[in-house]
Amino acid sequence: MINELKEIKMRAEERLKEITSLDELNELKVKILGRKGEITLLLKKLKDIPPAERAEVGKMANEIKSALESRLEEKEKELRQKELELRLSREAVDITLPGLPLIKGRKHPLTQVMDEIRTIFTGMGFTVAEGPEVEKDYYNFEALNIPKDHPARDMQDSFYITEEILLRTHTSPVQVRTMEKMAPQIPVKIIVPGRVYRRDDDATHSPMFHQIEGLVIDERITFAHLKGTLMLFAKKVFGEGVRVRYRPSFFPFTEPSAEMDISCVICGGEGCRVCSYTGWLEILGAGMVHPRVLEYGGYDPEKVTGFAFGMGVERIAMLKYGINDLRLFFENDKRFLTQF
Ligand SMILES: [Zn+2]
Repeated sequence: MINELKEIKMRAEERLKEITSLDELNELKVKILGRKGEITLLLKKLKDIPPAERAEVGKMANEIKSALESRLEEKEKELRQKELELRLSREAVDITLPGLPLIKGRKHPLTQVMDEIRTIFTGMGFTVAEGPEVEKDYYNFEALNIPKDHPARDMQDSFYITEEILLRTHTSPVQVRTMEKMAPQIPVKIIVPGRVYRRDDDATHSPMFHQIEGLVIDERITFAHLKGTLMLFAKKVFGEGVRVRYRPSFFPFTEPSAEMDISCVICGGEGCRVCSYTGWLEILGAGMVHPRVLEYGGYDPEKVTGFAFGMGVERIAMLKYGINDLRLFFENDKRFLTQF
């Protein structure tokens, strides 16, 4: 038995010299010291040896066992160290190389302008309302007093999904949706930023664009409130020196209606190509809420009045930054976007 032990030890040491990987080492460990390993099996036979010899053989077996254990451990350390060195040399990083710059994102110029407009109006006590982009014909037209023969209701000009459902052509449907929710509570004081859709596509029109709608309903609201609110808005966006003027206009859902112009931000009113030499730029439509629209929304036009306005965000952004082609906003060219 002692000879057997010595032989096992010798063979193990021979094998250890050849081993170059942790897998091989593990295999050897199992073969010798595992639950069915050579030494383990041999030690089980110890009970068959005469008691007189048993103590000596047992002692020796244990010595050989622990000697092998520490040899295996040593080898394992050695192999791990080698593996680490190899990995370090393979993954070596040249710390003198310049770092990779982190590209910082920023908000799209249209989002920036929308945020700015939103902040101006929330500063005046408006709250932000939203509505669906896929809208019922009823809210988009009917409840806004837009008659069946109105050109906007032509299939050619709007994206219809069914005869009764379309992509909203303006943010105005949220006026009626909000009134329905709030009536007869006053005051109503909301702005509605959002995407709208029309079948247009050229340098100044996009099939998808952004509007911001405003609606105020309360007792004794007059055109003077409308003018005061929009004057403040124009000054905040285009600067203190800006002048505004109103021209009579027509919208089915306001009466009276007006277009608001600002003094040209390029020439200051002198006249230039951008303002077609008039000195003025059209920026939004507005008016007093039509009594019929108030009724559709659940309000009594004898008791309350209101004003509403709507503007194109792209148009404001183009004027503010002097951009001449609307399509630049949607091409996502970083050379353009990083300028804002
Ligand atoms: Zn001008």
